[in-house]
Amino acid sequence: MVARYFFQCLICYDFLNLFTYFLFKNLPVKGLIQFSLSHYHAPSKFGSIVDSLYSGLSAMVLTDDWCTPCIPLKIGVYQGDPMSVVIFNTVINTLVDTVKNKPELGYKISNTRYSINILQYADDTCLVGNSPAACQQLLNTTEQWLNWSGMKAKIPKCSATSFQGSTGHSINPQLTLSGQNIPFLGNNTIKFLGLPIHIPNTSVQSKIRIKEKLVSLLTIVDKIGVTRRQKLMIYKLGVCPRLNWPLTIFQFSSTWIERELEATATRFLKKWSGLAKSANTSILYLPKREGGLELPSLLTLYKKLQVSRQAQLLTSSDPCVRRVAEYGLRAEENSKRVKFRPAVIVRNTMQEMPSCTRKGLTSAGRNAVVKQEITSRMSTVLNLPRQGGMIKSSKEGAAEIWAQTLNTIPENEWKFVLNAAHDTLPHNANLHLWGEKETPICPLCKKEKQTLLHVLNNCEVALNLRRYNERHDLVLAEISRTIILNLPQGFETTTDLGSEYSFPQYLAATDQRPDMVLWNDTTKSVTLLELTIPFDTLLEEAAKRKKVKYHELVSRIKGSGYETTFLTIEVESRGLPNLSGFSQLRQIVGLSKTVTKSLMRETTRLAIIGSYKIWCSRNNINI
Ligand SMILES: [Zn+2]
Repeated sequence: MVARYFFQCLICYDFLNLFTYFLFKNLPVKGLIQFSLSHYHAPSKFGSIVDSLYSGLSAMVLTDDWCTPCIPLKIGVYQGDPMSVVIFNTVINTLVDTVKNKPELGYKISNTRYSINILQYADDTCLVGNSPAACQQLLNTTEQWLNWSGMKAKIPKCSATSFQGSTGHSINPQLTLSGQNIPFLGNNTIKFLGLPIHIPNTSVQSKIRIKEKLVSLLTIVDKIGVTRRQKLMIYKLGVCPRLNWPLTIFQFSSTWIERELEATATRFLKKWSGLAKSANTSILYLPKREGGLELPSLLTLYKKLQVSRQAQLLTSSDPCVRRVAEYGLRAEENSKRVKFRPAVIVRNTMQEMPSCTRKGLTSAGRNAVVKQEITSRMSTVLNLPRQGGMIKSSKEGAAEIWAQTLNTIPENEWKFVLNAAHDTLPHNANLHLWGEKETPICPLCKKEKQTLLHVLNNCEVALNLRRYNERHDLVLAEISRTIILNLPQGFETTTDLGSEYSFPQYLAATDQRPDMVLWNDTTKSVTLLELTIPFDTLLEEAAKRKKVKYHELVSRIKGSGYETTFLTIEVESRGLPNLSGFSQLRQIVGLSKTVTKSLMRETTRLAIIGSYKIWCSRNNINI
């Protein structure tokens, strides 16, 4: 818009007096308010209510010790009066209409019949001319209106500038109003409707300000004495909403947002969540159903806000606004370098859903942005050779249960499992990889590399110390408790958790000890349940191994005339539950969906707590 004209001229001013009422008693109608209301065809009843309100009103100030005499209220609208906004806008609209009568002086939107010469919001006026001379003419018109209405402009608070379209340099246009020079904006910044206008370098200045604001907010949160999770919550509910406005009104490159703003936020979020520096950040921003913490990403937030903005502009009821937005759309289409095209996203949605409302359009556009962002983060995670392991192997729905459970575990366990999920914990294999330790070998068995898999599932010393059994039994006890509480009539059960365990030998004589046996002599049915806490990449292998181990026993029970089901339940050592085992269990015992879900969460929680304990004693044989 700027580049097409050598000179653009812009002036903003505030009004000193809102307006006077009594001064205009000599107008053909009663006063300025009455004139304006009648001019815009307000009902006469409304006019007479306003007239009675604004006639002869006075006020006094009372304290305990003294009071003033009656002070007649002669100028201004009455603040606190709900009608005052309507009255003010009606009066000021006479100025807008007067200036708009001179469209030839305004800034013309190229190749259209639209021109802009005034932008008015409440008592903020911005005149826009196509040259300093045209702007002076608009000011002369304004001056005439001021004289007619009895209003005054606060000239020292006004600003004027003109700028060279080709370079963006600002030049003093030497404008006057009521015989006084209007101050030159120069390198100062003014705000119009909250949008800082800094002619020499609006974009650089706004980048600096938004980054400063983010850093100062994050630093405040960083210093307060609350828990890790509370800090993340404050980021989500307190910091991000404070950036909504600047991220809506300014247009930055998405690369800048990603590299400067999001990178800054990520640094703090990693620190607060305890995620290792080397960890991929996707876990912070992915939704819970993908195993993430679902924190707002500033890049995604920016994209969503820009789509909302474009949806508003492209569907505006003001044809001039629509036309400007369409220019923006065309510029986006023609630009080869721009990666993120909010107007194009909105246009595409409009084409797909022609009868969609603005609200529907906004939400469809925003959803498209979010979907695209998640896909791109997921593909990054899945392409990581080591860090994506857990998410890669997770089955539908499991990651969501896991992510929901994270809110219920203590902070140390939480920090542990976040890093375990992406294999960024400081075990010897990683420390060796990071150049911090000479040997990657496990100090317990002194044979194998101390990898995460080795620590959590494969160290024979830890196995002999029954550390894995302890974790297994912790989870099994919870499963057994839930089953017993919900056991249908006619069923009997025994669990391998101590001396009370007794396998019903009349089904088949055996010294094998499946983790849990459920049987019903009336319906002649038996379920053998085996629980494993495998490492996620070895999940299916673990289930197969168990099946082979109990194959013969299952055949023998079947031989005694009982319908036999062999059920394996797996909760991975990093906490992901295998949903299919739980859903079979639900059918066999007749558990409700709610009970099954809470059982999955509880077993996830216990598996993580158990694994954390094993992790803590990874270098020590005694603990
Ligand atoms: Zn070992």
